[in-house]
Amino acid sequence: MSKKIYIRTFGCQMNVRDSEFVLGLMLKHGFAQAQVAKKADVILFNSCSVRKHAEDRLFSNIAELAPHKKKKPELVIGLMGCTAQYHKEDILKKAPLVDLVCGPGDEGNLPALIKDVLEHRCPVIATANVDTPRIEQCPEYRESHFKALVSIGEGCDNYCAYCVVPYVRGRERSRGEKDIIREVKDLADRGFKEITLLGQNVNSYGRNTQYAIRDTRYERQTTGFISLLTRLNAIKGIERIRFMTSHPKDASVELFKAMRDLEHVCEHLHLPIQAGSDRILKMMNRGYTAKHYLELIEDYRKMVPGGSVTTDIIVGFPTETEADFEETLRVVKEAGFDSAYMFKYSPRPPAKSAQLKDDVPAEVKQKRLVRLLNLQCAISKKRNEALRGKIVEVLVDDMHRKDRGVLTGRTRTNKVAVCKGGKELIGSFVKVQINDVSPHALKGRIVV
Ligand code: SAH
Ligand code: SF4
Repeated sequence: MSKKIYIRTFGCQMNVRDSEFVLGLMLKHGFAQAQVAKKADVILFNSCSVRKHAEDRLFSNIAELAPHKKKKPELVIGLMGCTAQYHKEDILKKAPLVDLVCGPGDEGNLPALIKDVLEHRCPVIATANVDTPRIEQCPEYRESHFKALVSIGEGCDNYCAYCVVPYVRGRERSRGEKDIIREVKDLADRGFKEITLLGQNVNSYGRNTQYAIRDTRYERQTTGFISLLTRLNAIKGIERIRFMTSHPKDASVELFKAMRDLEHVCEHLHLPIQAGSDRILKMMNRGYTAKHYLELIEDYRKMVPGGSVTTDIIVGFPTETEADFEETLRVVKEAGFDSAYMFKYSPRPPAKSAQLKDDVPAEVKQKRLVRLLNLQCAISKKRNEALRGKIVEVLVDDMHRKDRGVLTGRTRTNKVAVCKGGKELIGSFVKVQINDVSPHALKGRIVV
């Protein structure tokens, strides 16, 4: 009988894609998917290491498996992803239940690594290949039958002062254009309607070729992100193209023009600002000022009317004063984000800012976060109010988890929309007239 595997994912869409990739690989190598963790022979945790909080949650989740492992000692518990790369063999001390530690660059070897643990029953650590490109087109396993995440590159060379990504995901390397196009054409042939292109900084796609060409399976890059968007836009059957994340130092009017002109590219820009104070932005090594950022937003709104903008913001970066924080509030008001992910700063060595004293007291960080959340909530509500009465296109994702007979989906601008309807509509486009809004969702009824 096949061994059963269960993967639990914490973190960003990149982690979600990595879990899907690994699950596909395991299925191809004769494993079966367990529907619940308790039924699995192998439980893999895939976790983000960007913020300390996420990591703490991960370790408590692993620790909760202790009684289960006691009853089932042959159970293999593994950790993959950024946190595995971050702590390497130290994981075995932090989480003694773990038998396997596998960094993002080694995930392609997981079938062999897991077999190794199953056969030899000794811990295995695989974290040496942080810069290795991954072969993506195989396997073809996907969680959804209509929406797909497509990786266009890995790693990051930006070294923002607070960020651990360049250390745990390696140097930036773009995936070959032909390889991406092949994958998206295959998805279109299989009936997929929406793709989301993933990279730490999609705007620099194609720029970093040195890693790509070292491996002949990754063809030489000749073109950039806009050319990639243009080519993907021409693939029949793919109705929606999304991408994330854009970096303000590299996003440009050309990108916004492409968003305007390419009919399948959705009108949603995720453009993390991180802070509103120029002094803090400089310390963060972000490479732009608040003024430049706001000018970008202005250009975007001119080029892509009705488009949405979302962002990431960190509060309590070392030395952040009340005046710096007020700058963040000012910029947030001016930018008028549709929504934002907001975080309290946590030091993540070896990221550079960890050398600075984490001098904003926890309670001040918390207060600033709440003020920011409240402000953004009001702005999100106002942005959504403008859609009252309008008809929007929604790709239906699923049934609502709590409300029976209610569907949930996303607009082209990536807003959550809910409406009454049956499950046969999952995976299809409907037109919804909005008759109520909250800060986080649009509500309406299907009109076509
Ligand atoms: N490549 C993307 C995403 C990076 S990680 C980008 O450049 O935006 C996702 C978000 O986590 C970041 O945008 C940032 O807001 C947050 N983040 C990263 N490191 C952090 C830290 N040390 N403390 C708090 N938030 C952090
Ligand atoms: Fe981290 Fe900055 Fe790279 Fe984003 S661009 S992954 S925040 S180093």
